Amino acid sequence: MQEFLQACAAAIGAQYVLTSPADMASYLADRRGRFTGAALAVVRPGSAEETAAIVALCHQFRVPLVPQGGNTGLVLGSVPDTSGTAIVLSLMRLNRIRAIDTINHTMTVEAGCILQHIQQAAAEAGLLFPLALAAQGSCTIGGNLATNAGGTGVLRYGNTRELCLGLEIITAQGTLISNLRGLRKDNTGYDLRHLFIGAEGTLGVISAAVLKLFPQPKAQVTALVAVATPEAALQLLGQAQQACDASLTAFELISDYCLQLVERHFPALHSPFQTRYPYLVLLEISDNESTEHANGLLEQVIGAALDQGLAADAAIASSIAQSAALWALREHISDAQAREGKNIKHDISMPISSIPEFMRDTDALLQQHFPGCAMVTFGHLGDGNLHYNVSPSADLPGDALLDSQPQINRIVYDSVDRFGGSISAEHGLGALKREEIRRYKPAAELQLMATIKQALDPLNLMNPGKVL
Ligand code: FAD
Repeated sequence: MQEFLQACAAAIGAQYVLTSPADMASYLADRRGRFTGAALAVVRPGSAEETAAIVALCHQFRVPLVPQGGNTGLVLGSVPDTSGTAIVLSLMRLNRIRAIDTINHTMTVEAGCILQHIQQAAAEAGLLFPLALAAQGSCTIGGNLATNAGGTGVLRYGNTRELCLGLEIITAQGTLISNLRGLRKDNTGYDLRHLFIGAEGTLGVISAAVLKLFPQPKAQVTALVAVATPEAALQLLGQAQQACDASLTAFELISDYCLQLVERHFPALHSPFQTRYPYLVLLEISDNESTEHANGLLEQVIGAALDQGLAADAAIASSIAQSAALWALREHISDAQAREGKNIKHDISMPISSIPEFMRDTDALLQQHFPGCAMVTFGHLGDGNLHYNVSPSADLPGDALLDSQPQINRIVYDSVDRFGGSISAEHGLGALKREEIRRYKPAAELQLMATIKQALDPLNLMNPGKVL
């Protein structure tokens, strides 16, 4: 492999081919500390052409490669296995914003651009790039596209797939194919872009993309509403959609236990209410008229919900700082959970109408088999997407529960399946759910996926062991 590594160094500069264990360490470890892989090298090209040259060398020397952006993925998709035969292809140096077209409402970015930098560049141009998620300070747009990331704006703007008008990709053979024209209409055969979005790096490398931009809303108002049940939350969702239509840009569910975890681990953050309520809904309205208009809409929705007894209490943010404080409660749940200790995570989706019954049934099944386990339930209710996590508790401490992860996953995923849902709403399959999905996806569909993989990457060099 010395010859291969020398050829990589000649193509992009020896300083960008890392081989020492210390230099490679952070690229090989899963962010949540569950797994550490091994690699031949970490290779860091600085342009699409250099990336194509490295992929071509991988093809020539039959070296597998694992594309990596910010390494914030949650399903072990961006780290190599322990064989030490693959390279990690870090895209972080492809970090240029190539163009912003304020008339076409598009931005052309390289794959290694950090999501937050893209949001900032759009704002500086007076426009909005609406993809937003808690990892936005370190994840890359290439990773967002490769996992078809969701986040908090899906209700109004869709997943990353809906925000992309074109891709520049590198095939498994190292051919650079560019379609960065930013067309909103182009019916000229198969739309190949959609194969690479959500493929988790198993079909090719994304080196650049054209993203859709939107007008900046004139006003954004946020409220936290207390409700007694998930049914009440869903009824509130229906009424808010009816009143606000596309202006409703976020609708997040937070269980009281999640809030307690945030308050315990981040004492500066706390509920605005004196009383504890079983569930809270964080909702946001983005308005193209004015703050007064947005507040009027919000007060109308919340006033009606309070009058009907659907909502038990409500806090409307009256400043940007107050709005940030409400969002902080939602955004700190994952970190609070991590500080509490290990837990078993499920990122699931289903038809929104099924969520209350799913929660009732599955909570009961879990209590029956694992009495005392704690449920950390929160998520993007407006998208039918829950983070449905099972945690140790004083009644059922750590190891006993964590050792039972396979049984717990089975209970939750079988239940998701019964309700017509998906076992991975946002995070993908990676290596973590690759086996699990075989139980739930129809065999013919899996076979078709394998056929596509075989056609595009017959040597199985692109992120092997992930997804399929
Ligand atoms: P990585 O983790 O580096 O890679 C992810 C996958 O994409 C891997 O399979 C990798 O091989 C592949 N890949 C990366 N770059 C490329 C490329 N250029 N070409 C081809 N393949 C590539 N996800 C959501 O959908 N919604 C959320 O709300 C959300 N919240 C999160 C909150 C936190 C705190 C964290 C840690 C993660 C969250 N995620 C969420 C997970 C999410 O998938 C990632 O944060 C993000 O989309 C991945 O980007 P990344 O650059 O870190 O990709």
